[in-house]
Amino acid sequence: MVRMPGTVQNASPFLEAEDIWVEFNGKPAVKGISMRVDRGEVVAIIGPSGSGKSTFLRCINHLQAPTSGTVKIDGISVREGKGGHPKSKELTQLRRRVGMVFQQFNLFPNLTAVENIMLAQVQALGRTKKDARGRALALLDRVGLEHRANHYPGECSGGQQQRIAIARALALDPMVLLFDEPTSALDPELGAEVLGVMKEMASEGMTMIVVTHEMSFAEDVADRVAFIADGAIVEQGNPKEVLRKPQHSRTQRFLKAVL
Ligand code: ADP
Ligand code: MG
Repeated sequence: MVRMPGTVQNASPFLEAEDIWVEFNGKPAVKGISMRVDRGEVVAIIGPSGSGKSTFLRCINHLQAPTSGTVKIDGISVREGKGGHPKSKELTQLRRRVGMVFQQFNLFPNLTAVENIMLAQVQALGRTKKDARGRALALLDRVGLEHRANHYPGECSGGQQQRIAIARALALDPMVLLFDEPTSALDPELGAEVLGVMKEMASEGMTMIVVTHEMSFAEDVADRVAFIADGAIVEQGNPKEVLRKPQHSRTQRFLKAVL
């Protein structure tokens, strides 16, 4: 599929994070990151650990409230209300648009795979159990796990658990999916299963922002790679150019260490 990110000038981007700052105890962890993402675009974020990648990602769905800066998705933005709290109606709308997949899967251990995928559909979207189950089974099939529907997370491999977590995120029909090192807890073989599912979603046009150490995924699947160090984007662009011909010495140093 051919994507043309950034070719429509002046049109407002699908997702826009503007000048995001996050401080913890007065110490900045994210220092003015801005990012625009077009519909259907896949952005890989790479960088050393402790550089603010997760914190920035969590700002996109307001799991982390930025100290300053705004995030706008499809025209909806969460503005800080009085006392620094975001307006709850906008927060709910924004969260509903954004699915998230974590390194540690975060499945409910006492619910089966299908129940894990049903829960938020019923609670957040008000779907009937019957509808939620139908959608959950279809998604399990899509990630190759229909046969695991009635198993508990503890009975599934790490790769299977992460694919269940992806199905759970997809069940809420998100407009964008955020992944925070989705394969870092997995052996390479199991990680490959998960990357395969993510690659398929990318080719189907899902908008994705993926924090990853998988350089081959970044190169093969992402439309753009952003390198973050010390709370800021050092450079970003075409994956092959950033990964093979980095312009900044900080990027060169990082890639030399990981490749
Ligand atoms: P990365 O994902 O790139 O490894 P993080 O976003 O997790 O980096 O962390 C960036 C910095 O912010 C680190 O110095 C980390 O210790 C700090 N940090 C992250 N979350 C918190 C928090 N909840 N409280 C205090 N410090 C935090
Ligand atoms: Mg992180």
